[in-house]
Amino acid sequence: MPLKHWSFAGLMLTSWCNARCASCYLCCGPDRQESMTVEGALGIWRSLQEACPHGCRVHISGGEPFGDWPRLIDLARRAQAAGLGPLEKVETNAFWADDPGVVHDRVAALDGAGMGKLVISTDPYHQAFVPIARVRLLAQVAGEVLGPGRVQVRWRDWLAEGVDTAGMDQPSWQALVARYVARGRDRLCGRAAGGLTGGMQLKGLGEFADQPCRAVLLRSRHVHIDPSGYVMPATCAGLVLGQVGPESVAQIWQRLNADHAARPVLGTLARCGPVGLLAPAQAVGFAPQPGYAGKCHLCWDVRRWLALGGLYGDELGPLALYQAAG
Ligand code: SF4
Ligand code: SF4
Repeated sequence: MPLKHWSFAGLMLTSWCNARCASCYLCCGPDRQESMTVEGALGIWRSLQEACPHGCRVHISGGEPFGDWPRLIDLARRAQAAGLGPLEKVETNAFWADDPGVVHDRVAALDGAGMGKLVISTDPYHQAFVPIARVRLLAQVAGEVLGPGRVQVRWRDWLAEGVDTAGMDQPSWQALVARYVARGRDRLCGRAAGGLTGGMQLKGLGEFADQPCRAVLLRSRHVHIDPSGYVMPATCAGLVLGQVGPESVAQIWQRLNADHAARPVLGTLARCGPVGLLAPAQAVGFAPQPGYAGKCHLCWDVRRWLALGGLYGDELGPLALYQAAG
């Protein structure tokens, strides 16, 4: 099956984050320190544009890219000056948005540097770390500066009803999480695999037979690139397609297009889904849990066990992501 060209890419500027959301599929947090330099990010951005025949729409994410504001605005301005194509959006959890003047100036500066949209993350997991008043302030000021159509709040239904969840008593927290995970918005990889699945209905392994991941892995136009240059499918944290630096994005894409079926992890997942990884993992000692909340939960559990065991290092990484899942 031919691979789609990557025309949407998220540059993960840093794995550092002020928060440690239970839902974070990238396992970001205050103890993660990997980050891109502005030069490094520009090099990856350029490589993405060269690889994609119709151009690549780049967004900046993390971790929390506003953790280093001078770097963020410098990158946006230099990408614009270099004609690297549109900065589609910047994502933030609004932790920094406590002063209306600073909020206005930063949003206006990003607007001037060509940012298309500001995306603000808000849900019960984020509000365990970020006061919702900051989210409301940022959403309001960004709406005034950019216009409401250029401010995306994930999720607006939570913003309307939301509360700070830091310090919430355990029964109330569990009830809120149970109600929230039922909406099915969370990717059950990374920290979410352990942090959200406790109250979910679990299914036996037989439920996951014949669920190949071909479309997500080979037909998606969307990738994320982490601070070390690892290219990952947008929804499958920890699955490495290649590394920018040793190779260009075009070389990674061409090599993947030629050999994806033969790759032990990726090829197996594309053909069979995560149940295909069970036999090789069990052969070296993996013991599956009695049940899983979804196929990505199973996939993460098997891949993490293999990665921490030092297996398939070319395809499973970065190791710090698997280690940070706790
Ligand atoms: S989900 Fe977002 S805000 Fe939460 S820890 Fe991960 S990167 Fe940080
Ligand atoms: S099961 Fe694994 S490969 Fe398939 S979509 Fe989920 S994380 Fe990605």
